[in-house]
Amino acid sequence: MQFTDLGLAEPILRALAAKKYASPTPIQSQAIPVLLQGKDLCGIAQTGTGKTAAFALPSLDHFARNPKPTPLQGCRMLVLSPTRELAAQIAQSFRDYGRFLKLSVEVVFGGVPINRQIRALGRGVDIVVATPGRLLDLIDQRAFTIKDTEIFVLDEADQMMDMGFIHPLKRIAKLLPRERQNLFFSATMPGEIEALAAQFLHDPVKVSVAPQSTTAERVRQQATFVNQAEKQALLTLTVRNEPIDRALIFTRTKHGADRVVRFLEGAGIQAVAIHGNKSQAQRTTALQAFRHGHVKLLVATDIAARGIDVSGVSHVINFELPNVPEQYVHRIGRTARAGAEGVAISFVADDERPYLKAIERTTRVKLDIVPLPENFVEAVRNLPKAAPQRKGREQTPEQKAKRAEGQRRYQDQQQRQQRGGAERAHRPDGETPAKKPFRRRRSGVGAHKAAVQRTAR
Ligand code: AMP
Repeated sequence: MQFTDLGLAEPILRALAAKKYASPTPIQSQAIPVLLQGKDLCGIAQTGTGKTAAFALPSLDHFARNPKPTPLQGCRMLVLSPTRELAAQIAQSFRDYGRFLKLSVEVVFGGVPINRQIRALGRGVDIVVATPGRLLDLIDQRAFTIKDTEIFVLDEADQMMDMGFIHPLKRIAKLLPRERQNLFFSATMPGEIEALAAQFLHDPVKVSVAPQSTTAERVRQQATFVNQAEKQALLTLTVRNEPIDRALIFTRTKHGADRVVRFLEGAGIQAVAIHGNKSQAQRTTALQAFRHGHVKLLVATDIAARGIDVSGVSHVINFELPNVPEQYVHRIGRTARAGAEGVAISFVADDERPYLKAIERTTRVKLDIVPLPENFVEAVRNLPKAAPQRKGREQTPEQKAKRAEGQRRYQDQQQRQQRGGAERAHRPDGETPAKKPFRRRRSGVGAHKAAVQRTAR
């Protein structure tokens, strides 16, 4: 099947040709015809299957064929994403696929100043990609409404539930209009997710594509048993010895991620961390540096396990094993993308052995057990100290956002003042205010009194 067989509008086909997409992926060929008919869809698919285009292309087609002014402070399409990074990625896909259409796309998420988003949404936009919390903030501030939404997408529903978004989602469901098309995507569909889907969907068509196990098959999966306290030495050796293009290193905690980075830095190895305590600016910078290959090692909590599409990740290193087997599958799915081969290395401490068993049971793959390297004892003994913690207390994302908002306001004010000065300087002659006659300041006694009287007048 070709994209041309699907009956998509010409500007969309042109954008796909520019991206050199030859044919639709399975989720696309199943979902697009259903969605073009305006039906609701429940898709079991993960990121990496091409699901963004599966919901973006038919929606863009709808807008291309039914142009309408955007609703004031509202949108025509709302896409909900659990994480900020995935939201930004989805918005970029809409811009790419819709580059030959005149449509507006905005992405809104927390951790960054809200005022800029309020301004951007004021006149209304065609497509909004949002995380649930910030979306509700905007609605509560009466800066935005979703009552005009024609197409609604809930992406990565299971991760939404894991992240505790159930109540925001229920609130959002009540604020949407009755008449709309609904798309619901989840990597897994246990009972609670199905119940959530039922709140949004009306008589949906169900499509399902093979889970990421197909990807996992291309990943060489290894495990090494090691004491928790000695994992850092093993990591330093591993990143030195392995032919790494780009590696994602997963830790269980945010604090743990920062610690790993400091130890790597102490050993002269550059790495960056990404997790929920980092400000949005830090998260974006870290991901960009990793994406562009400026930094080869990205240390992450599970926030980066799903959704993030970075090509060329040769290695995934589980510094700690996740206690949920599915999470392991998501993590290793960050490598071996787009047909490439990948390596997943897991460091297993004694108390993590039950997690390893559960993972092997779920994936039905036995991990290759690799012994500790020969020079390991020496490496533990000579492990360089961690780089010192950066001076100053780490600000919370909220504090940083507040600070950034203050700075932005100050800059706005400065710009306004400059513009004011420039306008005054460029007033047409006729508008030049009459010059006040120069008045010599009276000197001596009474000068001050005269000045006060003048001011009072
Ligand atoms: P997604 O699951 O939407 O995150 O997509 C995963 C990756 O596949 C992204 O890098 C897309 O750009 C890419 N992709 C999506 N659809 C196609 C297609 N039909 N042909 C080739 N690549 C695609």
